[in-house]
Amino acid sequence: MISEDSHNLTGSEKRFSGVGVSPGIALAHAFVRSNFFIEPDKYIIDDSTKDDEISRLEHSIEETKKQIELLKNQVREATSGEGEENIFDAHLLVLEDKVVLDEVRRDVLEDNLNIEYAFYKTMSRYIDALRKINDGYLRERVIDIEDVMRRVLRNLSLGEKAEHSARNTHVLVVPELTPSDTAQMDHSLVKGFATEVGSYTSHAAIIARSLGLPAVVGIYRFCRQVHTGDQLLIDGYNGVVVINPSTETLSEYELLKKEKDKVSKELEKIIDKDAETKDGRSITLSANIEFAYESDLAKNNGAKGVGLFRTEFFYMNASGAPDEEEQFRTYSEVSNRVKPNSVIIRTLDIGGDKLPENSVGAELNPFLGWRGIRVSLCRPEMFKTQLRAVLRAASSARIGIMFPMISTLDELKRAKELLNEAENELMHEGVVYERPAEIGAMIEVPSAALIADQLAKEVDFFSVGTNDLVQYTMAVDRINERVSDLYQPLNPAVVRLLKETVNAGHAAGIWVGVCGEMASDLYFTPLLIGLGFDELSVGAPRVPAIKYAIRSLDYNVCQSMAADALSDISPDEILSRCKKIAFDSYPELIG
Ligand code: PEP
Ligand code: MG
Repeated sequence: MISEDSHNLTGSEKRFSGVGVSPGIALAHAFVRSNFFIEPDKYIIDDSTKDDEISRLEHSIEETKKQIELLKNQVREATSGEGEENIFDAHLLVLEDKVVLDEVRRDVLEDNLNIEYAFYKTMSRYIDALRKINDGYLRERVIDIEDVMRRVLRNLSLGEKAEHSARNTHVLVVPELTPSDTAQMDHSLVKGFATEVGSYTSHAAIIARSLGLPAVVGIYRFCRQVHTGDQLLIDGYNGVVVINPSTETLSEYELLKKEKDKVSKELEKIIDKDAETKDGRSITLSANIEFAYESDLAKNNGAKGVGLFRTEFFYMNASGAPDEEEQFRTYSEVSNRVKPNSVIIRTLDIGGDKLPENSVGAELNPFLGWRGIRVSLCRPEMFKTQLRAVLRAASSARIGIMFPMISTLDELKRAKELLNEAENELMHEGVVYERPAEIGAMIEVPSAALIADQLAKEVDFFSVGTNDLVQYTMAVDRINERVSDLYQPLNPAVVRLLKETVNAGHAAGIWVGVCGEMASDLYFTPLLIGLGFDELSVGAPRVPAIKYAIRSLDYNVCQSMAADALSDISPDEILSRCKKIAFDSYPELIG
């Protein structure tokens, strides 16, 4: 039954469309977090709540002061004491202006105005007055005062929203879901996402799929049109979001959900079966995880271990880089949960769109900059902390390790040297450890695919990160909608690099898998199987569907289609052949 308790269905329905990046239907109230400024509503409050309102403002001002102090410190550190941080002193002074605060208090105590509006009204009056003064310096101060006003108002409303969301499940609505947002949110309360920005391979989409949460991204200016508390229906299958859905809409979705539930029942039946094609080609089907607790999801969905454990989340929250003990505990916990299967831990891939909160020193081209293994090799001590934790956890479970963003042979060799150094340190310290069962390289940069024969001599496996491989091959930012038509996983250039990688790996006797989002797409399964990949690693909730697809396919048919894809045919033609095989083999999963 599609229902959400504690909310009635008032207000008229509004539909929006975006891109459905994670299937499923969610219904919950919206929790909107945005920097977009909305003029507060004006209303009359009850005499009994006046004191509470005033203390809310005091609390919000204190909170704002703390934030400004924090910013001031960050700027001081980033600019090595050149005094630029002093700009924030002016902001702090605004918050201490007694005349303003007395006026706000009077509006609340005498006129019963709500605090947000009283504060907004007073500040706006000062701002308007300053604007009229013919003095460049004072007019510039307007920007500072406006900034402070927005912060105070945001903290006022966030206080309520945070409280509200702490008690209720919600759909998170944000302009853009950043990795630090996802690392810090309470996963038990979030039922889905709706964002203004994003694409199928953006971080938000990957996270939503791996948590099994319906998500729609790319909804134009959505944050301005929805309010916290509105009831929101997310249709991740069709990329539709409905504010305050009508009774008819809810019945329509009831039917859709019933159909999908029927398919889920079929999928449940094959959870414990092998991922083997009809003619006997066996594929290792494992799961991608981002948070430790997802290892249970992987197991319950019938994955053969974890093929990609992203470890950036450690670095995304406010507390910064984790120590060896914390990492060791997490790696041990995950690997023990998926026993006897293995976990492949990917070393830190920070950079690109995966930036820690408040990170300073933004780059002009972050995806082409300081990212993945490049950061780890520049920070050997930080890297070795992670390697030591992996080595120690490998003593009690089967653990593999792989390095992201390898673009040269030298980087791979250097990463392995540091692994050896970490091992030697542990040996000399008498600490219990084991070498990882397998060492792998991610192939996600065209240069790596082109020298895959050289890289293959150094490792036990390749895992192809198609999210980045497509981005770098086609020179399209994977999260930029303006060039999304050029993000072509089936472009012959990409297909050839995939095949080169499989060939090079197999010639060296190592296995080759795909852990990028291509592996999760039911239309691409025939191609990846046909190209000869040995392993597919997909978001845990996606494992049953991909297993069902593999079990419905003929390896022979896939191979001859892949051979055609490598000949002279267009991306559209490759897609239509993939679709035909998918429709013929598992129509119940498509559409
Ligand atoms: C990829 O690039 O396909 C991949 C799996 O890595 P990420 O999405 O974390 O960059
Ligand atoms: Mg990648």
